[in-house]
Amino acid sequence: MNDIKYSAPSTMDEAVAAMVAAKGAGRILAGGTDLLVQMRAGFVKPGSIIVDIKKIAEMMTIEDKGGGAFKVGAAVSGMTLHDHATFKKAWPGVLEAVNLIGSKQIQGRASAGGNLCNASPAADSVPALVAAGAMVTIQGPNGRREVAVEKFNAGPGRTTLAQGEIVVSFSLPARPAGSSDAYLRLIPRTEMDIAVVGLGVSLTMSGGKCTAARVGLGAVAPTVLLVEDAAKALIGSSLDDAALEAAAAACRAACKPIDDKRGTIVYRTKIAGVLLKRATAIAADRAAKH
Ligand SMILES: Cc1cc2nc3c(=O)[nH]c(=O)nc-3n(C[C@H](O)[C@H](O)[C@H](O)COP(=O)(O)OP(=O)(O)OC[C@H]3O[C@@H](n4cnc5c(N)ncnc54)[C@H](O)[C@@H]3O)c2cc1C
Repeated sequence: MNDIKYSAPSTMDEAVAAMVAAKGAGRILAGGTDLLVQMRAGFVKPGSIIVDIKKIAEMMTIEDKGGGAFKVGAAVSGMTLHDHATFKKAWPGVLEAVNLIGSKQIQGRASAGGNLCNASPAADSVPALVAAGAMVTIQGPNGRREVAVEKFNAGPGRTTLAQGEIVVSFSLPARPAGSSDAYLRLIPRTEMDIAVVGLGVSLTMSGGKCTAARVGLGAVAPTVLLVEDAAKALIGSSLDDAALEAAAAACRAACKPIDDKRGTIVYRTKIAGVLLKRATAIAADRAAKH
């Protein structure tokens, strides 16, 4: 790793300038829980420049904008988000997804920005952020732009970031009372494993009916999916068995999984429907108390 340079700018403009100057050889360092593993495995080429973003205030800040709206810096660690005074009440599903990443030690470092930019289809925070309707703010040499989380990744290990672009923050929207969310994943072990399927649901209940819903589904396709047909099946219903089965069927239909040692295509597809029903029940229960 001797040929690898390190910089730790304190502003976004400096970080973008460092990435542009690196001409494609720059790597952003947030918590490092993916990047350092990749460096040790020799996947980061000699001559690369590591740009540490943790000295940039905006990257490390959580802003409660009221009504459930939050801006979360891309490098905020899972533990910092866990300890925030109001985030858990507004977005328990996003928090439980972020807090499923690794162990307590990993939680002290790992960020949702790193989880998204590592571009694993099985990344735990991503289905919950998709369900939440989170937007990603990106800064690059041509200024800032926003993109929905579900449109950010292009495939396993591939983002849509252009050269020099850096993820700055996530924006979660305001939503009415009677709203909540949930995230569930299936793993072969009880902890510290990669999701066979991960599913996030965010919904709003009013007068016993579901008035808004979003479903994010992970580890069953090259990128995390927004399952619009599942949301359509839930919206307007009282979350009765028929609506839940229709939403589960939509999740199964959206799956384009691979067979691997963690799960077969048939198993992953079946589990997607099971998790939809269970996560929806948890989100609805939370919404009733919110
Ligand atoms: C023991 C262990 C257990 C794990 N368990 C899980 C798990 O259960 N679930 C799970 O989903 N993941 C898991 N991971 C993977 C990893 O911890 C997560 O993906 C984590 O969220 C990465 O965040 P980070 O801040 O450490 O990212 P880093 O390692 O700093 O960065 C990850 C990648 O994203 C890029 N990047 C980071 N931030 C930005 C940014 N703001 N803009 C542009 N590019 C950026 C980096 O250049 C790098 O390519 C585990 C890892 C380990 C080592």
